[in-house]
Amino acid sequence: MRCSAITGRVFAKHDMEAPPGSGQAETSARLREVLGGLPGDIPVRPPVFATAADIERVHDPSYVRWIREMSRGSCFLDNNTYVSPSSFEVALAAAGSTRAAIERALDGENCFALVRPPGHHAEPDRQMGFCIFNNAAVAVARVLCDRDCERVAVVDWDLHHGNGTQKIFYSSDRVLFCSVHQTNSFPGTGWPDEIGAGRGKGCTINAPLAPGSTLADYMRIFSAVFVPAIRAHRPDLILVSAGQDALADDPHGRMLLSPSDYGVLTGMLLDLDLPVALTLEGGYGPSHGRAIAAIFAALRGRREENDEPGRPHDRTVALAETLQKLIRY
Ligand SMILES: [Zn+2]
Repeated sequence: MRCSAITGRVFAKHDMEAPPGSGQAETSARLREVLGGLPGDIPVRPPVFATAADIERVHDPSYVRWIREMSRGSCFLDNNTYVSPSSFEVALAAAGSTRAAIERALDGENCFALVRPPGHHAEPDRQMGFCIFNNAAVAVARVLCDRDCERVAVVDWDLHHGNGTQKIFYSSDRVLFCSVHQTNSFPGTGWPDEIGAGRGKGCTINAPLAPGSTLADYMRIFSAVFVPAIRAHRPDLILVSAGQDALADDPHGRMLLSPSDYGVLTGMLLDLDLPVALTLEGGYGPSHGRAIAAIFAALRGRREENDEPGRPHDRTVALAETLQKLIRY
């Protein structure tokens, strides 16, 4: 199976240390961990920059202007999202490279955009949670405009809810948004009854899992809810908002995934036999690089011998049943 990565040194240029006492920051050191997991023989494509017009398909022009202005210096825009002098350019590269990964996938080469800053919390008019522009949404909006692409499925397996992506496509019946996340984590959205509105009703699926969830819980949500919903949606492509912060050693969460589990989840999506692109979201733990390696192994066709994933929690089984009743498919 052909696959590739898109990344480059530009993504290290958005950088700032966390203010004292504020805890974790999303820094360029993360990218070194991630690239440590990128197999040496995977083709690496150069970053592509989004245009302001691409960004403004999903973000307010006044917000885009404000980010450009603020990026002349260094400052925190909220408790955890910062800009430094290259951030505007880097954020354009993160969104443009996610779009390029989609283009690659549509052309038969499944592709992972290893970019930062992440994007899935960014809303039309505001930054949030380390995110400046919503890379996934900018990329999807662009391909829905100018490729022969009618529908897309976005699968967000980051520990946190992809509130920005949900908000941007909430009324669209062309984008199926499936998010699995740790319940009650930042930013506090992503409940099962958030299912979309208007024409988009039934095209948003939220699976908040209890802390301590394992691969068995994720597999149940994928097999009982996400996979049938994606089949029914008949998308031309799957974009994964791939944040690996549900790893057991991640400092931001309390989930119990192992690096190889990400290979299993990738394989479940590949089994749908659709083009698959991925864009990096969160992931802050020491085993993040190994999760990236497992995802690439799956993209190349290697399947993990799935030794006994165990049983999902009763709460997960009940959640899957609830979602099956709520969602249109
Ligand atoms: Zn996250």
